[in-house]
Amino acid sequence: MASLALRLDENVEGDFYVDSTCIDCDACRQIAPMVFHDVGDQSAVHHQPATGDELLAAQKALIACPTSSIGSVAKHDMRAALAVYPERIEGDVFRCGFTSESSFGAFSYLIRRESGNVLVDSPRFAGPLVKNLAGMGGVRRMLLTHQDDVADHRKFHERFGCERVLHRDDVRAGTAMIETQPSGNDPLLLEDGLLMIPTPGHTRGHAVFLYRDRFLFTGDHLAWSESRGHLYAFRSACWYSWTEQNASMERLLAYRFEWVLPGHGRPIHLPADEMRRSLEQCIAWMRNGTRVAP
Ligand code: SF4
Repeated sequence: MASLALRLDENVEGDFYVDSTCIDCDACRQIAPMVFHDVGDQSAVHHQPATGDELLAAQKALIACPTSSIGSVAKHDMRAALAVYPERIEGDVFRCGFTSESSFGAFSYLIRRESGNVLVDSPRFAGPLVKNLAGMGGVRRMLLTHQDDVADHRKFHERFGCERVLHRDDVRAGTAMIETQPSGNDPLLLEDGLLMIPTPGHTRGHAVFLYRDRFLFTGDHLAWSESRGHLYAFRSACWYSWTEQNASMERLLAYRFEWVLPGHGRPIHLPADEMRRSLEQCIAWMRNGTRVAP
């Protein structure tokens, strides 16, 4: 629960506010940019919701916030916002919304499949989301991009019996029991239309997942930079090897995709040829960055 006593001064006057427990994960700014903005190393309300759509967006952000740092003075009926997640992105791909503090507010995704639904990275194990997932048929598999975004994987496994997948090089004590632990750098066809592509760099065992040659779930490997206008990688949050991450990025040139859906950073939807050009820009930028700041 957000606290009025901790309300940041940067918030505009009115109902919604962000308090000082904000960890600057960016989730609210992605979900409701018309309400929340960046104020340095935290978020604040820059515009109070004035329409039904803005109100729903603010409520969705409040629900998604990993640290319950968003509050409202008035009491709201949250049922409509709670019913939104998982929220459709396109076709059978959804965003889960409920982010977890243990993965620093990373976004997770759901692929709805006739053979059984697939989660990509772990959302927060929150009652309303779990109920909605159960109503959509549960979770058959959970694909984990890397060690930082495993969050409540154990609870989802216990509730839905889902098989979990995590590259062996990112397995730690809390994930040692994970059912499937591929190794090496070769791509692995996990099931029809769903490919695991190891992308060491951000972490040693990082992997991305390509769905139907259209959706690339990228964890913390690759995201869109609005300021640069092209795809990019997190140089200052590369925990294993920037050189390896560059090589992993080059290997992605072998694939076609139109969506980049990251854990952190901004998603992007582009025609496949434009996406490839943007990936080439990213690789050129990474090479330059490697020379400038090894
Ligand atoms: S979602 Fe919550 S923690 Fe993340 S930036 Fe917004 S207020 Fe801060």
